[in-house]
Amino acid sequence: MSYGDANLPRVLLLPSSGMGHLVPFVRLACALSDRRISVSLLAVRPTISAAESLLLSSLPSSLLLDFPIKPLDPSLFPPSSDPFFLQMEALRRSADLLPSFISTCSPPVSSLIIDISITSSFLPVAAAANIPCFVLFTSSASMLALCSVFAFLSKPTGADVNIAGGVIKIPNSSLPPPLRDPNHLFTTQFVENSRALAQANGILVNTFSALEPEVLVALNSGAVLPGLPPVIAIGPLPPVRKEPSLPSPVLRWLDEQPEKSVMYVSFGSRTAMSKEQIRALGAGLEISRCRFFWVVKSAKVDREEVVDIEELLGEEYAKRVEERGLVVKEWVEQEVVLAHRAVAGFMSHCGWNSVTEAAAAGVRILAWPRIGDQRVNAALVARSGLGIWPEKWAWEAEERVVAAEEIAVKVREVMGDERVAETAAQVRAEATAAVQEGGSSDQSYQNLLNKFRSNC
Ligand code: UDP
Ligand code: UDP
Repeated sequence: MSYGDANLPRVLLLPSSGMGHLVPFVRLACALSDRRISVSLLAVRPTISAAESLLLSSLPSSLLLDFPIKPLDPSLFPPSSDPFFLQMEALRRSADLLPSFISTCSPPVSSLIIDISITSSFLPVAAAANIPCFVLFTSSASMLALCSVFAFLSKPTGADVNIAGGVIKIPNSSLPPPLRDPNHLFTTQFVENSRALAQANGILVNTFSALEPEVLVALNSGAVLPGLPPVIAIGPLPPVRKEPSLPSPVLRWLDEQPEKSVMYVSFGSRTAMSKEQIRALGAGLEISRCRFFWVVKSAKVDREEVVDIEELLGEEYAKRVEERGLVVKEWVEQEVVLAHRAVAGFMSHCGWNSVTEAAAAGVRILAWPRIGDQRVNAALVARSGLGIWPEKWAWEAEERVVAAEEIAVKVREVMGDERVAETAAQVRAEATAAVQEGGSSDQSYQNLLNKFRSNC
């Protein structure tokens, strides 16, 4: 890989906090450097989660530059604020450090790619410094449509949102819950970013045209919002090339399972479940009689995981299910799990990276969105046929616990559904075609590279 060649366009990439943001930035950095772009990934340290810190330390140091942020005054925010949002806010408030940072970069910077969550504060600074600035949108194109119009809606909360004459329909019950509160930190960031998006030189999305065809057309034709910059679908972003690894007991267990027999259960890097819901999920998986590999998560920030599996599920649980189930409480490389021949299904919160990874692997999804953009993404999973979404299942914020019997029924349904399996395989073929030479995402890359070259 080449990160610092003076004759190549020089692009800086600035992610915000959380694995859902860092992972696509790392993938994009590697994909660009493979296409002879000189890239640096700006790292904000210390990170909130241990997973981010581990990922950064696994990268070549020549790829990374540390970006400084100014500390936030915690008294300005409610004590219960999400630590990932606070880190984003600290980064947003540090945009004025960018010009002096860039002035020290050699070779000089020709373009920037910034995270959607820091758009409104960094775009004007980049424009003043005369540096073309692209946004990497870290969720679906459907969610991008919502973000594009949100600041301009006459009734932004409490109503269903119909975009581009109904091409994108988002029921009020699927809007990210914080958007109901205009004073929530997520909402203030969301509205400001929504207003600023039109100033970007282009918006990159980790999706592909066969997955969200009408939405991408609507975004690029002005039907979503006139004057929106080009929306460039470059997904699914490729995995970072390194030795694939799984903890050996996990790999051993997966290797022992029959082909396409296992449901992988995971809710991403920052979605915790209540103890009651974890117990009901455990019971549901047990009575489903299906094979499963479950990564349990009971705390939002991984460094704060203190309760062990026995305390959550009871001493006997692991023993009772051992013939067909494995439960762990640690980070596993999800892409390796999804690519394993034994894995057929994925009970997922529908974080966007997880959806695109399942699409690339042809693994069908049982969608259980919990927070944020996940219902918008789950609707797309159901619409595309990549999986099924039991819409009545509760959000994280709801009191209701989804019962074990309901969970067991849906696990059996998705694992036994040949039609969904076929569609998932077809989505995988479309994902592969998109990134092959001449495919829709490959062509988008070529356009993007031309933009970078013309800027340097
Ligand atoms: N991930 C992983 N192992 C885990 C949990 C998550 O590799 O045990 C990865 C997953 O593959 C994805 C990212 O972390 O690339 C999580 O992003 P996503 O958008 O799916 O969800 P988020 O964590 O932001 O809610
Ligand atoms: N998002 C957005 N505008 C913003 C901030 C976020 O559209 O101003 C989108 C973004 O793509 C993100 C999603 O909303 O993926 C959910 O954001 P959050 O940070 O809660 O979740 P995460 O991506 O960490 O799972």
